[in-house]
Amino acid sequence: MSDNVKMVPALCTQCGGNVEVDLSKETAKCPYCGMEFMVEKAVNNYNVKYAHVEHADNVNIDVTGAVKEVLDFAGEQLKEGREDRRQREKEFAEQSRQSSAAFLKIMAIMFGGMFVFAIVAFLVMFFSGKMDGDESASSNDEGSTIECRLEDGCLYTDVLGKDVPEWRYLEFDSMGTVLQYEYNDESGYHNCVIPEENVTDGVRYVVAGAYEDGFEIDEYTKPMYYSVIQVTIEDHDFTEASDPVIVDDLSEYDYN
Ligand SMILES: [Zn+2]
Repeated sequence: MSDNVKMVPALCTQCGGNVEVDLSKETAKCPYCGMEFMVEKAVNNYNVKYAHVEHADNVNIDVTGAVKEVLDFAGEQLKEGREDRRQREKEFAEQSRQSSAAFLKIMAIMFGGMFVFAIVAFLVMFFSGKMDGDESASSNDEGSTIECRLEDGCLYTDVLGKDVPEWRYLEFDSMGTVLQYEYNDESGYHNCVIPEENVTDGVRYVVAGAYEDGFEIDEYTKPMYYSVIQVTIEDHDFTEASDPVIVDDLSEYDYN
């Protein structure tokens, strides 16, 4: 073989057998099928077949690996992204759940507070109203008035108004006076006392007790409260009478 000979692989254009051909020649003869073929075409056949396969294999491998990597990477990214997003959504949901729970809590506390306040206010109003009523009843019922007057030598005492307690003139501490009349009716309580005969001049007290209405009263029943009127007697006549003073107990009265 001369230096000009350059043998290259080729494929027989007739049978496809692997052959080597001299590129410096125009034609060659196939050792398998004996056919003469064009060298250029046989070499081209070989190059097309193997270059394609090789290239395709390479491409296949590369692409597969690259695509797999890319897809894996993308998948990881997507997965991480999804997880990130899921985490963020979870956190956001948790935050909004917490904030809405806190909001509801605040609203509940506010409404609860308002409710409790309303109830307390109602109770305070209710009981203060009731206590006002009790107070006026114990000092002297608000719906009634008690007054006295001196007339024709008599001391008249009138408790006027509806639902007044049962009033009774008391002998005790009313020394020097005599009960002329006494009655409770729908318009109130009324009595009249005059000075006792042969009474010595001086200061006396006319006392009446207020009893719970409808309660059976005897000499031992203690009144709910008392009316005390101070009178002055001169020459068997009343000359002065104070305004009635209401006390819960006779010991509270300031006797002169
Ligand atoms: Zn051949």
